[in-house]
Order: sequence, then C-alpha cells, then structure tokens
Amino acid sequence: MDAEPTMIYPIVKYGDPVLETAAKPVTEFDDKLKQLVEDMFESMYEAQGVGLAAPQIGFSLHLAVIDTSFKEDPSAKLVLANAKILSMEGKQAGGEGCLSIPEFRENLARAQRVTIRAQDVNGNWYEKTGEDLLARAFQHEIDHLNGKLYIHHLSSLKRDMMKRKIKRLVRQGEW
Ligand SMILES: [Zn+2]
Repeated sequence: MDAEPTMIYPIVKYGDPVLETAAKPVTEFDDKLKQLVEDMFESMYEAQGVGLAAPQIGFSLHLAVIDTSFKEDPSAKLVLANAKILSMEGKQAGGEGCLSIPEFRENLARAQRVTIRAQDVNGNWYEKTGEDLLARAFQHEIDHLNGKLYIHHLSSLKRDMMKRKIKRLVRQGEW
C-alpha cells in the first residue's frame, strides 16, 4: 500500500441523516479500505473516543473501529466490518456518550457481556466476546451501523429534552 498521509475527518453531528441510515455492507477489502480504517482510528483518537463508526465521518458503510485501551494496548484495536451481535448476557449500568452528540452523556443500561461476529480489515471473519466497556462499545457501534443512536434507547421524555437543547445549539450556531 502506498504511504498515504492519514486523514483526520470531522465527526458528523446528530441531525445529519447519515447517522440514522442503515449502512451498506463492506464488500471490498482493498487498500482503500485499509486506508479508511487507519483514518478512522486517527480521527477517533483525535476526537478522544474509544469507538467510531464509518457513518460518523460520512461514509454509510458497515464498518467501525474500537480501541477501549485508547492506544495503550495494540491488541485492543478492533476493526468491525459487517458486524453482528451473536449473544448478549447480563446487565451493566453506566454513562454513555457519543462523539456525534458532543457534550451530552446519559445513563443507559446495556448488556454486560456481548459476543460479536465480524470481519477484520482483511475480510477474515472472527468472533469476540467483550465485557463491561467493550461490551458497551460493541452495542453502541453496531447500533450506529444500523442507523440507531444511543438516544433512541432513552425514554421519549429524556430524548425530547435533549433534542430541544440541540435545536437551541443549532440556532446559536454551536452545533
Ligand atoms: Zn456514537
């Protein structure tokens, strides 16, 4: 692969329809995809996130990257292409945020242990089980690929409150 410079993409914010559209499957595991994956990791680190889905940088592709170690552990860098949840167990409480909904964070119960099946950057299928933060990241990122955001799991009262605040920020040119 040519050494293309890494591109840091701006994060698409809530309100853009790409975030609420089901993403298309990844079919080509070529150099272009490898470059995109590298760009996604760098864009995620730049935004101080531990997970990023392709729609969040404007690509409606069934692709996400996760690094719950935030650069500490190279083996924690995961590429999820065409990922599916195979099983979910238990329950964890905790706060959840999203790079596409900056400044907000809400409590959201999620499964505690989640097993996924996905393809890596070379197209090889793998299965992985994650607990706690990784289980939460799996659920959050795979939701993104299905056009779903964490606010869709909140009560309509809570969600409407957030939407009103966001509308105000949009009007003020701060979104
Ligand atoms: Zn998110």
